[in-house]
Amino acid sequence: MRSYSVRKRVLVTGGAGFIGSHLCERLLEQDADVLCVDNFFTGVKDNIAHLIGNAHFELMRHDVTFPLYVEVDEIYNLACPAAPIHYQFDPVQTTKTSVHGAINMLGLAKRVKAKILQASTSEVYGDPKVHPQTEDYWGNVNPIGFRSCYDEGKRCAETLFFDYHRQHKLRIKVARIFNTYGPRMHPNDGRVVSNFIVQALKGEPITIYGKGSQTRSFCYVDDLVDALIRLMATPDGFTGPVNLGNPGEFTMVELAKKVLALTGSKSELVYKPLPEDDPMQRKPDIGLAARELGWKPTIPLDDGLRRTIDYFRAREG
Ligand code: NAD
Ligand code: UDP
Ligand code: UDP
Repeated sequence: MRSYSVRKRVLVTGGAGFIGSHLCERLLEQDADVLCVDNFFTGVKDNIAHLIGNAHFELMRHDVTFPLYVEVDEIYNLACPAAPIHYQFDPVQTTKTSVHGAINMLGLAKRVKAKILQASTSEVYGDPKVHPQTEDYWGNVNPIGFRSCYDEGKRCAETLFFDYHRQHKLRIKVARIFNTYGPRMHPNDGRVVSNFIVQALKGEPITIYGKGSQTRSFCYVDDLVDALIRLMATPDGFTGPVNLGNPGEFTMVELAKKVLALTGSKSELVYKPLPEDDPMQRKPDIGLAARELGWKPTIPLDDGLRRTIDYFRAREG
């Protein structure tokens, strides 16, 4: 459904969060009318305060587990806590957000014939037995553990997206996002990049879980937002799922050493128990994204970390 305005009307759920706020910003730069919907569970108004006052930006406090009736052309469904301590705080609500949230946003997309993109996750691969992960791998996920509310919620959301696509011919796009970092990460969300930077800047011990030999691949937020927008613009025949991330792979000890070097901190490394079901390795195969979106990440880890450190330095005073 198009309005009389020539501007595209875009709904971003979870728009006051870390990735969502960068996405809202980029969409406004591209002359979209942006409706940001958020219940402020983990998102904060500070993330989007600079957008308020822009005539093409609208903010709505709303929980996506409840129906939403608005008129839009495209939907980016990002609403969902993403950090383990946040999604484990109220696991039932986490599953509801992924599942009921997906149903409501898909119902909305169906009614207004909008194109809809789901922010899925590399967590659908669980503790992967295939490395690097390709989209045709079905994953190794514990259905009853502490991470399951997030992992299985996101898996069920993918199922719903594909069933609405097959059953109701909805135009869907499913992005499997790998670890993303950058300015506006929540300082207390327990994620590794924000934890290490905040600890280094305060001169506190850097907490390595387990032996620190587990790996992750970190994508700078600007690269990720670029990929999401490219994915939304792909022809209707392309649904994904598509991996989006930076294939550079680092152990947590390597990451800690980089953060120490870039901050000039003298913090010591301390070793803590490895959380349950913590994946030992993770690295995206981004061949499909390269072919279909003409995309690859451009910001190396050191550069992205520098920008993120500057943000936290300014924030922590
Ligand atoms: P975030 O916690 O900063 O953002 C999530 C936003 O959703 C927050 O603003 C929060 O308040 C909002 N929200 C949560 N529940 C809601 C509800 N019921 N109704 C309305 N709003 C709700 O996290 P993020 O890192 O920006 O992640 C954004 C999306 O990307 C999430 O769906 C996440 O699963 C996905 N993702 C992120 C990463 C990553 O590394 N950051 C990796 C894979 C997938
Ligand atoms: N929905 C919504 N906004 C809309 C249309 C639907 O939030 O504009 C919600 C509504 O709560 C509904 C859900 O999306 O329960 C699924 O909609 P669908 O049309 O697929 O199914 P039904 O209405 O038959 O439950
Ligand atoms: N991690 C760590 N120290 C911390 C926080 C996290 O060693 O202070 C580890 C964590 O055990 C995991 C990796 O860093 O192996 C990434 O954790 P994060 O929560 O950022 O993301 P996810 O596990 O969801 O990929």
